[in-house]
Amino acid sequence: MIDLRSDTVTRPTEGMRKAMYEAEVGDDVFGEDPSVNKLQATVAALLGKEAALFVPSGLMGNQLALHALTRPGDEVLVEQSSHIFNHESGAAGALAHVVLHPLQGRDGLLSARQVANAIRPGNYWEARTRLLSLENTLNAAGGVLYPLPTLHALTGIARERGLACHLDGARLWNASAATGIAEKDYAAPFDTVTVCLSKGLGAPVGSVFAASAALVKHAHRVRKMLGGGMRQAGILAAAGLYALRHHRQDLAEDHVKARRLAAGLRAAQGIQVPVPQTNIVMFELLNQQAGPFLESLRAAGVAMVPFGPRTVRATMHRDVSIADIDRAIAAVSRVMAPAGSIVP
Ligand SMILES: *Cc1c(COP(=O)(O)O)cnc(C)c1O
Repeated sequence: MIDLRSDTVTRPTEGMRKAMYEAEVGDDVFGEDPSVNKLQATVAALLGKEAALFVPSGLMGNQLALHALTRPGDEVLVEQSSHIFNHESGAAGALAHVVLHPLQGRDGLLSARQVANAIRPGNYWEARTRLLSLENTLNAAGGVLYPLPTLHALTGIARERGLACHLDGARLWNASAATGIAEKDYAAPFDTVTVCLSKGLGAPVGSVFAASAALVKHAHRVRKMLGGGMRQAGILAAAGLYALRHHRQDLAEDHVKARRLAAGLRAAQGIQVPVPQTNIVMFELLNQQAGPFLESLRAAGVAMVPFGPRTVRATMHRDVSIADIDRAIAAVSRVMAPAGSIVP
């Protein structure tokens, strides 16, 4: 099976497993795991923040941001296709007790005017608009990059109006690999940042939350409250450190694979696909529904996921090769309904 469902399906490499086996560990609830401490210091430095905290998932990292930057009843501005709004099981409401205010971006990108207009003036009968949460790269828009000047404009307006800013950087590594802009430059305008180690980097588990020392201190208590206090977590942190040292530099190859897949799909009849900016290929089926298409494709040995009635996502990662991509293109051409046949 050529598995393009997500960049989370990778298996730890031999080198990574060896690093995990050899990891120095201790009890992290006592702050005594040297591998966890090293990972946190490494990621804090990469993101230009004072401190960082290792968490089991990106969701928990985003939760820590909501808890650190809002009070119950506060409102958070998000884009309508964002992960925090669509793919976090309602945690923002259930756990952080905030109201999410979804704005419709263009290709997922918000404008400064949209953000400015969405911030409530502060009447006591309204929720207090307290936080702007942005994603980079944008998952549901298809791995789209937020231009740095736009990020500065959006966070500038937010700050002027007294809002805090959070960056869901699950794939921030991909943004930097695509543009050459350092992660810390993307992170600079934000109070808090979440990054994932378990996506394109290929670690089996883990995300990191980074912020000022004071916010991380608060988040540490919240992480414990949410059940995220782990013990000899250095076994996992070692995989993250290994991924940063040995896998991060390979991310640009996933972007090459994405462009190759998109070019191949474009040649097939009945598919509309933009040029991918990073490792995600999001495409539209013009003549058929995603469900039956994905079923036949799976029977032909390729797995992708639906992202709408006729929208399909294919995500590149280190466990698929260029040859796999060519096989996937051939499989898609085979299963495409003949041109002109309309399947409602
Ligand atoms: C994957 C992802 C997350 C975190 O997902 P977890 O499965 O909780 O680690 C957060 N934001 C975005 C944009 C993502 O793609």
